[in-house]
Formats: sequence, structure tokens, C-alpha cells
Amino acid sequence: MGFIKKTYAKVMTYILRILLFVTLTILTQIGGVIYLLSLLLAKRIQYRFKLKKAITFVVLYTITTLLIIPSIAPIFGRIKIQNTESIKPTNYWTVILNRNYVVPELNEFLKLVADDLQTSESSVELRYLDANFPFIDKFPLLPHLSHNDGKKIDFSFVYESKNGEITNLKKSRSGYGIFAEPRPSEFNQAEYCLEKGYFQYDYPKYLSLGEINDSLIFSEKGTKQLVISILKQKNLGKLFIEPHLKNRMKLTDKRIRFHGCGSVRHDDHIHMQLK
Ligand SMILES: [Zn+2]
Repeated sequence: MGFIKKTYAKVMTYILRILLFVTLTILTQIGGVIYLLSLLLAKRIQYRFKLKKAITFVVLYTITTLLIIPSIAPIFGRIKIQNTESIKPTNYWTVILNRNYVVPELNEFLKLVADDLQTSESSVELRYLDANFPFIDKFPLLPHLSHNDGKKIDFSFVYESKNGEITNLKKSRSGYGIFAEPRPSEFNQAEYCLEKGYFQYDYPKYLSLGEINDSLIFSEKGTKQLVISILKQKNLGKLFIEPHLKNRMKLTDKRIRFHGCGSVRHDDHIHMQLK
């Protein structure tokens, strides 16, 4: 019996480790590999202390993410987004999870957009969401279908208070999943796609991690200022936003496309990609 119990425990440990490896890789790209390295390292550390494996992982992951990856990624063509006063992640988990890497042209693009907003005397600042992982073209950054080449990035919408004052605060804890729903008079793309059987179309609703600043409302004016500054850039390839918001903001630029029912709804964020 003892032998069976031991074997069972061993198998369970391996299964758990594989699951953890896969989850960390999906979430952060490098996390799975760091986890394996941390297991080896923890074995070599002579001292015994509580949560040794977990602490070793967290320390190794933090050092790698904050110090090592930013200096290695450029060799493979991507850089960490340079945060400034007016360019910041909506949620710092984007940075901790290594989802903030772009090709240098996209980093330049962000600066030009932020500068343009400033010159237009807009109080709108850039708040970015998922961009790309640091390494390997075609390595998917889930749940996004296309953020895999350093040229894609999502932005948060702009919101305003009930008396129309534009703010840079956001409504979703994660940055995703709180929708600026269509009004009764507007075309309801989400309903259309769901009826056609694209059940994943409103899945972002599971990703919000909760609503914050719930008195804020979608700012048509502020979001339009942001989109216009993006559209001014010549190397913009495409921009995705839900059709009812495109119409509401009276935007007609041909680079604003519908992403298709096979994607997910874009009335919680803007997606853009370079040419
Ligand atoms: Zn996107």
C-alpha cells in the first residue's frame, strides 16, 4: 500500500507541475521556464525554510521580469513599452505578466500619439492594455488571437464623470470586460454575433475582475480625441472598435474595421495594429 500511495503522490506532483508550467507559460510566456529553473535552484539551496519553492520562484521571476528580459528582448526585436507621464498601463499586472512588449516602431507610435494629444490640449492620456510578449513571433498572447508579432496593442477607453469632466480613471479592474453597450437605437453587433452562434463574442465579460469607479461613463468626446490622434499616424494598419461606437463618434476612416464575429466584442477597449 505504501508503495502505491507514494507512486500516486509522485504522479499527482508531476501533473500539478505540468499544469502550473502550462498556466504560467500562457499567462506570462517566460513564467513556465522560470518555474522549472526555480525548482532546480530550490533543490540546490541548502537552507530549509517555509514555502522555499514558492519564494524561490517569486524572487527569480521578479528579477528576470524587471531586470533581465528588458535587456534581452531587444536582441530579438522587441522592447518594453517606455512608460511616461502620459503613457501608462491601465493595470500594472500587464507589466508584471510581461504583456508589455512591442516592436520599436510601436513604442515610437505611442509617443507620437501621446504628443499629439498634448498638442491638441486634450487631457486624455494613453492607458494601454495587453500588447505582446517579449519573444517569438506567432507565440499567442491569450486570449487575443493576433497579439503575436509585436505590432499589436489594446487601449482603454476614455471615461468622464456625470458632469462631463474627462478623467484618466477606468471602470474595469483588469481593463477588459466592462462594456459601453449599444443604445436601443443603435445596431447591436454583440446580439447579432451571439444569435449567429458565435458564443465566445462576449466572453470578455468574464475578464473584468470587477467594476471600479462605477459612476464614470464612456466619454464619446475623450475617446474620439484618442482615436483621432491614433488615426493621424501614417503607419497605423487597422483599428478595431465596436460598430455602434464608431457610428456614435461619427468616425469614418477606412482603417477602422470590424474585427468579425469570430473575435470578441470591442466595446470595452480599442485594438490597434501597425501596418
Ligand atoms: Zn487587441
